[in-house]
Amino acid sequence: MNCIFCQIIQKEIPSEIVFEDEKLVAFKDINPKAPIHLLIVPKKHIESVAVLNEEDKSLISEMIWRAKILAEEQGIAKRGYKLIINCGEDGGQLIKHIHLHLLGGKKLEGLV
Ligand code: AMP
Ligand code: ZN
Repeated sequence: MNCIFCQIIQKEIPSEIVFEDEKLVAFKDINPKAPIHLLIVPKKHIESVAVLNEEDKSLISEMIWRAKILAEEQGIAKRGYKLIINCGEDGGQLIKHIHLHLLGGKKLEGLV
């Protein structure tokens, strides 16, 4: 499959992985928008939130839980951070494999 995140998960292309278990992988964003910018990605290829099946909904809570732990490990939990999931074209999703952005380490402005 021609999916860059699946290739990262399969270790076919390099990335800076900071966490991995049987369901998830987390790695550093190649083009960070903040001092800490991690991507939390399920190993299962799911294109976006828009096509998420009910059987996979627990993956989303796993991703948020992992973001919480990683934010603590990265030292940004106390000052705060943003969690972002882009979905589809209007949502600005470039990589069609669902992922959660964890951003922190500076004051972040946003739409909401
Ligand atoms: P999105 O717009 O939500 O699809 O975000 C995709 C993110 O993936 C962007 O922030 C990119 O910088 C990041 N990205 C793209 N290719 C790679 C890569 N090979 N390794 C790490 N991050 C990547
Ligand atoms: Zn994929």
